[in-house]
Amino acid sequence: MLINIHTHNPEKQDNQQIIYNLIIPETDEALETFPDETIPNSWLSVGIHPWYINENKQKLQLEKLRQLAKNQDIKLIGECGLDRLKGASLPLQEEIFIKQIRIAEEVKKPIIIHCVKCFNELISIKKIVRPKVPMIIHGFNNNLTTAQILLDKGFYLSLGSAILQENSNAAQILSQIPHEKLFLETDDKDVSISELYEKASFILKIPLNKLEDIIFANYIEICT
Ligand SMILES: [Zn+2]
Repeated sequence: MLINIHTHNPEKQDNQQIIYNLIIPETDEALETFPDETIPNSWLSVGIHPWYINENKQKLQLEKLRQLAKNQDIKLIGECGLDRLKGASLPLQEEIFIKQIRIAEEVKKPIIIHCVKCFNELISIKKIVRPKVPMIIHGFNNNLTTAQILLDKGFYLSLGSAILQENSNAAQILSQIPHEKLFLETDDKDVSISELYEKASFILKIPLNKLEDIIFANYIEICT
């Protein structure tokens, strides 16, 4: 079973299990009917993405998340987090992120994190809020020093299509990530999760079925 911990594409093959991501919308209209898309028969994550925080609707957005978070198909809270390059102001992003961490704590579900150029802020929020639920940084493609700091602080790292490029940070650091902290994901990229498992098993020099077992066990450990 190939676990794809974060994707925006509902399609999957028989030997795959996706965690399909739902983004809480910003407008009254969309919030009322959300989730209105035909939800695929799969596991889900749901959260307020830092790009789509509506300052005037944040209460409704959080209320919607709080309602959905209890649903048993929702396996993770997020993607949520911090983005220095896009979205709401950083102080507002931090406030909404902290509130989502608290919701995740209430329902005891792990958090899938979007973090762009805000790792220091992320680390200080973790230090202040001290969540007990696991935190996975999705689409990680940063250098080894940053990876090691984050691993030291207890974060899990999920790597995506960047590992297909040999010179990427993600490909370079993959073998330094402890197996029990590793996930793979397709996110919004046009790649298949099996391609990523094959590449990762090649880089890690471990058989594909062993890598499958490792990541499946990580999933079971933190999401069930
Ligand atoms: Zn995403």
